[in-house]
Amino acid sequence: MTDAELRQRASKVVPGGMYGHLNAALFAPGFPQFFERGEGCRQWDVDGREYIDFMCSWGPVVLGHRHPRVEEAAARQAALGDCLNGPGPIMVELAELLVDTVPSADWAMFSKNGTDATTQALMVARAATGRTKVLMAHGAYHGADPWCTPSPAGTTPNERADLVEFTYNSLESLQAAAATVEGDVAAIIVTPFKHDSFEDQELVEPAFARGARALADHLGAALVIDDVRAGFRVDLRGSWEPYGVRPDLTAWSKAMANGYPIAAVTGTDALRGPAQTLYSTGSFWFSAVAMAAAKATIETLRDTDGIAAMERAGAQLREGLHAQAKSHGFTVNQTGPVTIPWLSFDGDADLSVAMHWSDACLRHGVYLHPWHNWFMSAAHTEDDVARALEGTDRAFAETRAHIG
Ligand code: PMP
Repeated sequence: MTDAELRQRASKVVPGGMYGHLNAALFAPGFPQFFERGEGCRQWDVDGREYIDFMCSWGPVVLGHRHPRVEEAAARQAALGDCLNGPGPIMVELAELLVDTVPSADWAMFSKNGTDATTQALMVARAATGRTKVLMAHGAYHGADPWCTPSPAGTTPNERADLVEFTYNSLESLQAAAATVEGDVAAIIVTPFKHDSFEDQELVEPAFARGARALADHLGAALVIDDVRAGFRVDLRGSWEPYGVRPDLTAWSKAMANGYPIAAVTGTDALRGPAQTLYSTGSFWFSAVAMAAAKATIETLRDTDGIAAMERAGAQLREGLHAQAKSHGFTVNQTGPVTIPWLSFDGDADLSVAMHWSDACLRHGVYLHPWHNWFMSAAHTEDDVARALEGTDRAFAETRAHIG
């Protein structure tokens, strides 16, 4: 079954044929919608085209597709049972591993998706403070529930009424936002760096991170780090640990289990009691296979220094792209951590250059994205990146020829 045939069939039985951020209609025209398989840092679409993959399934695949240690742990648990009347011992082992790995974590609660975790973190903050308002950065993505989805379709204004926006990296703006709802701030929720779609990424200013911590303390509100996208790719201890800033609550998901569905909230002792008061649960939240995969993933990242491997590969990619762009006469901006990279073209407000280039990359076997950040995995070897760079170089040449 070809991609075109599957799209045709899907259009009859799935709204729009596909929905959400994985809808290939939102990317450049050559992007496939349906995929057959993945192995290491490669994916194959249903038409049999092979790609060196720099999206890593939009983040989850951090060790490479079908990593043996993770697959073995998942299979061992699956042979015992996945969805049982209660969690397996693995839930306790995984919570212990998170508490041992993440200095700000004294406890962990598990769920399935990043949105579950960000939503649950805010519930804990509200339960703890008895307050309603949440300060969040303008344009930040925290998930797809009615309170945070970027599209208002299907939501009511009430569902967003408790959010007060500030500008990322502006302490002044954060303080001003807090002042508008004085006495009623339950939480500040913030991503560890600015990674909004369609925009160059922006690392956090250390003074902003420290200021957010101090303001949360001053207000008696919870500082929530949304580490759903960056978690386990920047620092296993939490993405603000290098700045010496520890959150009260952290939302995790994506890379936690190398593609198996799981999310977590971790928090400090002070919030253990409030966390315990929530009614927050789901039919599949305690399934053991994803927990076994998560434990194996985090242990493998730790034991093999997976983040260092991603940093090497990411630096090689960034340097290669820099040299190529220059040699083809493009000014590009490469932003964000090298493990969560992105490239934009200077002056490309309508994304037409990015669309052409990413499409050409695909034709040369490299899957990356025109308007969303990319993700490195520990499976990207020096050879893989070198091969990918051959493809990106040809794509730059073709894009130059196309736009003149
Ligand atoms: N927060 C951030 C920072 C994210 O990047 C995402 C997913 N892109 C989410 C929350 C929501 O996660 P999910 O799609 O798993 O619900």
